[in-house]
Amino acid sequence: MKRREFLKVALSGLGLFASSAICSKTVFSSEIKAKTKEFFGVLVDTTRCIGCRTCEASCAESHSLPIPNIEDKSVFTKIRKPDEKTLTVVNRFLTEKGEIYVKIQCMHCNQPGCVAACLVKAMKKRKEGPVTWDENCMGCRYCMVSCPFDIPKFEYDEAFGRIMKCDMCYGRISSGKVPACVEVCPKEALTFGTRRDILNEAKKRIYQTPGLYVPYIYGENEVGGTAFLYISSYPFEKLNFQMDLGYTPYPEYTTGFLYSVPVILILWPAFLTGIHYLTKERKKEIER
Ligand code: SF4
Ligand code: SF4
Repeated sequence: MKRREFLKVALSGLGLFASSAICSKTVFSSEIKAKTKEFFGVLVDTTRCIGCRTCEASCAESHSLPIPNIEDKSVFTKIRKPDEKTLTVVNRFLTEKGEIYVKIQCMHCNQPGCVAACLVKAMKKRKEGPVTWDENCMGCRYCMVSCPFDIPKFEYDEAFGRIMKCDMCYGRISSGKVPACVEVCPKEALTFGTRRDILNEAKKRIYQTPGLYVPYIYGENEVGGTAFLYISSYPFEKLNFQMDLGYTPYPEYTTGFLYSVPVILILWPAFLTGIHYLTKERKKEIER
């Protein structure tokens, strides 16, 4: 079963159980606060990325996670995924057009499957665009199975593990800064701005540089659109991008089913809230 089909089934299962004026790094950074009615996003231009992994180090530092040795090029021998200690990773692809580097992280979907799946609203789509995680998480990990990009990871090694994933530096952008990865990228491969502006910038680059880019913006429509958008000189399907996710927001797969099981909808959250309470009590006991 393809991942897409699997996720549709998984989401239904959850229902059952649950119920061009762009500057390089940022688009009008001084106007960030004024534009908070629009979602922000990041344009990743893979033609500019040199695989230096400075973004990985900066992300780790700003999230108080282990800082990777970015001199270690052996990481490029395999395709990596973000995990609970590394919220963004850069992968290398050897192509006939040379080495292509692709940074990946949470896509900050416009209508996120992880948010729809979270019964205690620990996952939130913020009005600024980032999808964030809160401490009231009860550890059910539904967000993990509902993410079409397989992004949220759980801290299994910790006594009170958290769900970990890129938060688009929500704290930084709330105070008018750009995400840490965008700030440090030495090649301006990352551009922060409103989704509308970075989408326009992506189109501008594609149409004003004939032959450089494939005519596709990954994330413009996938799963209803994402806040991270990608442009590339090489076909996305050959760079490990999932091309079979469709354009339907994942939460829409659950809606019809959810309305058909009102009793479960009422009872299941209460059950999970109970588990959440018991977990908290146990935590207090251990801390005593
Ligand atoms: S990529 Fe996954 S974790 Fe990120 S917002 Fe979308 S559904 Fe949620
Ligand atoms: S900092 Fe910029 S150039 Fe370096 S790996 Fe990250 S995205 Fe690529």
